Amino acid sequence: MAKPEPLGLLGGSFDPIHYGHLRFAEEAISTLGLARVRLIPAGVPKHRATPHATAAQRLAMVEIAAAGNPRLSVDPAEVLSDAPSYTVPTLERLRQELGAQQPLVLLLGADAFAGLASWHRWEALISLAHIGVASRPGHALNTQAWPAALAELWRARSGPIAALREAPVGRIVQFDITPLDISATAIRALLARRASPRYLLPDALIDYIALHRLYSPKEP
Ligand code: ATP
Repeated sequence: MAKPEPLGLLGGSFDPIHYGHLRFAEEAISTLGLARVRLIPAGVPKHRATPHATAAQRLAMVEIAAAGNPRLSVDPAEVLSDAPSYTVPTLERLRQELGAQQPLVLLLGADAFAGLASWHRWEALISLAHIGVASRPGHALNTQAWPAALAELWRARSGPIAALREAPVGRIVQFDITPLDISATAIRALLARRASPRYLLPDALIDYIALHRLYSPKEP
């Protein structure tokens, strides 16, 4: 029987989702040979600041951004759950849903990977999925700056892209994507001073943000 093509998983606050995320997903599909990418907006992430838009609004923006691309799908489970959003329970749920043989690739930008050792039950991640680490402007992959356990994981688990098909879990691959120095923080900062975020995220999202008055300056 043919081996299943790897499935990519891209989680984030997506507050809001932008072209940095969308190019990441698109290039992960082509460079890593993924069947598709599931976008997984976090509910209320416990390990970082509370998002600015509500979970329902962030989910709606991800759905708008993914519409029309059959290789992107949206997983609303973290947003719909009352439980805190952690990646390990999400991967356990996806394993139940998709079976033990399905290769899964947890997609992380270089900044997210560098912070991995602070995640809830992070050492379990590599037994539930592969990890695909993409370059991100301003975030060099500097193993010297990482906690020793993370650098050791990198050393022990790094492999070629082809390894993603050979097993369902367990390998770390690093790959370069078009450098786009776009962040949700910078987009929110533009909107807060009434500057245009045009060409940093899809026009349909700019319309949504205007309609719902998101990220706007506080009224005096
Ligand atoms: P914020 O500025 O609010 O922290 P963000 O723009 O970093 O948000 P997240 O939702 O935190 O976006 O990111 C989700 C994932 O996408 C993370 O793995 C992050 O590293 C990655 N990512 C976000 N923007 C880019 C980008 N421009 N290039 C590469 N990876 C990115």
